[in-house]
Amino acid sequence: MKCQLCNLRKDLRNSHIISEAFYSGLYDNKHRALPVQKDSKKLDLIQKGIREKLLCSDCEVKVSRWEDTLKRDLVDFGNLESNFLAITKVSKGLIKVEGIRYNEFKLGVLSILWRMSLSSNEYFKSYNLGPYEEKFRKFLLEEATPREDQYAICVSRYELNGNFYPELLLGFPPWRFDRYFIVQKFIIWGHCFTIFVNDKKSLPVNINVFLRESGNLFIDMRSLVDLASRDSVMSRLFDNDVEKMFEEKMDWKK
Ligand SMILES: [Zn+2]
Repeated sequence: MKCQLCNLRKDLRNSHIISEAFYSGLYDNKHRALPVQKDSKKLDLIQKGIREKLLCSDCEVKVSRWEDTLKRDLVDFGNLESNFLAITKVSKGLIKVEGIRYNEFKLGVLSILWRMSLSSNEYFKSYNLGPYEEKFRKFLLEEATPREDQYAICVSRYELNGNFYPELLLGFPPWRFDRYFIVQKFIIWGHCFTIFVNDKKSLPVNINVFLRESGNLFIDMRSLVDLASRDSVMSRLFDNDVEKMFEEKMDWKK
């Protein structure tokens, strides 16, 4: 079978779509069991442990290097402290992170989206990159990380009553922003990644709301309450979700 990344005919590994690293590991004592109900039809909890024959072992090694970086950073984001990153609370709802390894972090996030798009499992059916799938394959293969304004990534943190829940893993339906952007989002390790799929158009917003090539990232804080009720989820997902996030993040309209 052909490896989906290098396109060579090799033995394929039974690859995780989402690495186990993102839903297992040591939590610190502050972390509690996740209170979100599993009953919403529109809000699918991502099924853990789904594997498919996608990658050869060489490509698997490559991808796992990005994932390791991403996971290490997410653990530190979750704990709000790090030996490698500078993590500062800018205001009640906003965290600033400096020192992220842009290339590995971004390739890690985009490779998860790419694998969900490749997956034939119905749990990932709302993730479909269409013509971008091949573009993703190429830049992932060449490790040619897209610029900060291409496939731009926003990150939000979810909490409930001051508690952070790293085991939160959720999928969302795709949707469109500003006509040219397909917005795909997923929550892993308690953080929501919003990816604006387009490599030509720049988003009409302050670039600081996205992961920067400098390694800087602003993370806005959200409440899990917004995900727990179906009505509020729907309103946030489909009304002004992105605009609201931008406003909260940077006050960019002023
Ligand atoms: Zn390969």
